[in-house]
Amino acid sequence: MSELVIDNLHASINGKEILKGVDLTIKPGEVHALMGPNGTGKSTLAYVLMGHPAYEITEGQVLFKGINILDLEPDQRSHLGLFLAFQYPVAIPGVSLANFLRTAINAQRRAADPNDKGMPIPEFRKLLKEKMDLLQMDHSFAGRYLNDGFSGGEKKRAEVLQMAALNPEIAIMDETDSGLDIDALRIVSEGVNTLRGPHLGVLVITHYQRILNYIKPEFVHIMMDGRIIESGGADLALQLEEHGYNWLRDKAETAII
Ligand code: ADP
Ligand code: MG
Repeated sequence: MSELVIDNLHASINGKEILKGVDLTIKPGEVHALMGPNGTGKSTLAYVLMGHPAYEITEGQVLFKGINILDLEPDQRSHLGLFLAFQYPVAIPGVSLANFLRTAINAQRRAADPNDKGMPIPEFRKLLKEKMDLLQMDHSFAGRYLNDGFSGGEKKRAEVLQMAALNPEIAIMDETDSGLDIDALRIVSEGVNTLRGPHLGVLVITHYQRILNYIKPEFVHIMMDGRIIESGGADLALQLEEHGYNWLRDKAETAII
C-alpha cells in the first residue's frame, strides 16, 4: 500500500523545535490541503519529508510503502515515489530544463533497474512535449536553464512539469500558488487535476484558500505552531476564509483551558 503515514513527527532546526508532533496519513488517490499562517512549520514538514539535512528528527516516524523513510537519502525517497514541488525553486544555471528532467527520469529508471539504459531520446522528447502542452508551456522553455531568470509563475510551472514527468505516488506541493496570477494558477491547477488519479496522493500546502477552488481537496488540515490542530473536509477551508486563523486560534485555546 503506497500510503504515507506521518506519525508523531517532531523536528528541530538549530536546536529550535518547529514540528511538535504531526500526525497525517495520505492514501493514494486522496488530495489533502495543509493550511496555516506563516511560520507555523508547513515548509518544514515538506523539507523534513524530503530529507533536508538541516533538520533533526527528535521523535516520531514517517512510513511510506511501509518503509521508515527518515532513514533514506532524498534521492532514495524520490525513487520510492515521493515528490516535492518547492516553495522557492532553486536556479541551476548551465543545466537546461530538458537535461535536468532527463537526468531525473533516468536516475529513477536506474533505481528501479540497475541495467536500464535510460529513456530513448525520441521517447523523452515525446513525453516532454506532451507534458509541456498539458501545462501550456512554450516548447522553447525546455532549452532554458532551470529556473534561471524564470518568473514566479514559470518556476511553478516547471515544478509541476517535473511532477508530471516523474509520475510520483505522493506529491507535496509547497505554496505552488504563491506568485501565480489567476491564469497561471488555473493552468497549473488544471495540470495537477489531470495528474490526479487513484495512484496519486497529493498534499497541497497553501496559505490561501484560492488554489483550493481549482484543486479541490477531500481533506483539509490546519497547522498552527508545529501541530495539526484541526482537520475536516473541503468546507473547513471555506470556514477559514470566512473567519480567519484567529477563529481557530481562539478555538484551540478554549480547548486547552
Ligand atoms: P511556513 O512554511 O508555515 O511559513 P516554515 O516551516 O518555513 O513555516 O518555518 C517555521 C518556523 O521555522 C519559522 O518560525 C521560522 O522562523 C523557523 N525557521 C526556519 N528556518 C530556521 C532556521 N534556519 N533557524 C531557526 N529557525 C528557523
Ligand atoms: Mg512555507
